[in-house]
Amino acid sequence: MIQSPLLDPIAGYIAGQWVDADSAARVDVTNPATGEVLASVPAMGAEETGRAIAAAQAALATIPDIETRRQWLQQANDALLANKKEIGRILCMEHGKPWPEAQGEVEYAASFFDYYARTMVDILAPEHLPGEFKGCTWSVHKRPIGVVGLITPWNFPIAMIAKKLAPALAAGCPSVIKPAKDTPLTMVALFRILHDHLQLPAGMVNLVMGNAGKIGGALMGSPTVRMVSFTGSTEVGQLLLEQSRADVKKLGLELGGNAPFIVCDDADIDGAIDGLMANKFRGAGQTCVCANRVYVHTAVYDEFAQKLFERVNALKVGNGMDEGVDIGPLINAAGFEKVREHVADALARGAHLKAGPRPDELDAARSLLYPPSVLTEVTHDMRCCQEETFGPLVPLIRFDDDAKVIEQANDTSFGLAAYLYTQDEQRAAWFMERLHFGHCGYNTGMGPAAHTPFGGMLTSGLGREGGHEGLLEYVELQTIPQGISRAS
Ligand code: NAP
Repeated sequence: MIQSPLLDPIAGYIAGQWVDADSAARVDVTNPATGEVLASVPAMGAEETGRAIAAAQAALATIPDIETRRQWLQQANDALLANKKEIGRILCMEHGKPWPEAQGEVEYAASFFDYYARTMVDILAPEHLPGEFKGCTWSVHKRPIGVVGLITPWNFPIAMIAKKLAPALAAGCPSVIKPAKDTPLTMVALFRILHDHLQLPAGMVNLVMGNAGKIGGALMGSPTVRMVSFTGSTEVGQLLLEQSRADVKKLGLELGGNAPFIVCDDADIDGAIDGLMANKFRGAGQTCVCANRVYVHTAVYDEFAQKLFERVNALKVGNGMDEGVDIGPLINAAGFEKVREHVADALARGAHLKAGPRPDELDAARSLLYPPSVLTEVTHDMRCCQEETFGPLVPLIRFDDDAKVIEQANDTSFGLAAYLYTQDEQRAAWFMERLHFGHCGYNTGMGPAAHTPFGGMLTSGLGREGGHEGLLEYVELQTIPQGISRAS
């Protein structure tokens, strides 16, 4: 069992009160590194969600001025940083990522509160258009969109909610929040912090957890909820799109990816390996922006592959709470099986396993630790190139023609992230113009940051998180033409 002052109580949160499920039923949360049951959380559903929506609606009448909201964000940033170690410990135990990496995620989460605390007054300022038109002066005002539903995945239990909650609070939108079933404890810890440090009006933030279909259905079925911001799979995102139709509800969707990572013959090979290692193995490869398929120019393929094996073989796999561990377990057996199947498929079709175990040596029932793996002589048609693997697997594909590799990179319904390594600026500009991805790293494996907009093209999503665009998602624009008085 996990003990923490931030997990007291382990409950939902509605209208400023800690609450259990109406049925008193609870579901267990396990540590993927050990299989140990860490705690149980309330198994809530549509009824509790309905009450949370009503509480959020009531809070709309109590939204304070922009300076008070700005202070909330500053306080959230400060409290998250002050509790970085403890939140990181909870996150590490329920997700599995190494503790230092989990603390890094808390810092990243805090950066969204910090960024909007510093910029929200300017971003939300009304715009007064110069001059007059047809006897009026014109201004554009940013009004909170209203009650929002925020649904988050397990792979970044604190960062994904920070990207949504910071702009929601800044804009003045009360929220109903649903964490993933695998990682609800980090969210409970966040609510403990909000409760203790922010003095939010009752109903400004609400936490429900349990049955995803029922909670999601209640959020989507309520005309009070004006926007749902969701991060997760494209399949669930598509379901939400269908459910949003009746109320013409706004959706923010951060969905799946299938990121190409392209290494040209003129690339700085050591820099590309550094970028790939940092990009690929964070969260054991369970990130939407990580390289899913690595295209290496045939002129540097063997050198790249050799250097990569050496780096990958030096990675330490284990319990994220243990010192020096680089890669923790995968989140669950289904995630583990997917990686295993992708490796098996590639081997059956002629790829070579250069690092990592053979699929038949592994058993998810024994351990969810999946050693980092590298496949060579992979071809574009294999499952590991066609689908998001979401695990610590690097498939290396050869290329010798820029036009062809662009075609293969873009040959996916996803458009979230892509990476390119070349020392030729003109060549890079040519690639960037053609890559259909919302986030394109150039000589870096860097993911998103709080001060810039991030989001996907194609089936990877709708809207942006981060940057001033990420805050504007939570407002409605109201245009006021004001008649000029002729009286004076
Ligand atoms: P998921 O199964 O879609 O779950 C995401 C969230 O949606 C969870 O809270 C889940 O609840 C909830 N959910 C499930 N069914 C629902 C329904 N019918 N109505 C409303 N909510 C529902 O995705 P995941 O496996 O947790 O996350 C992995 C996926 O997320 C990957 O495809 C990854 O690429 C994507 N992702 C994208 C980004 C991005 O920024 N674009 C970032 C991170 C992850 P339960 O956990 O209770 O089932």
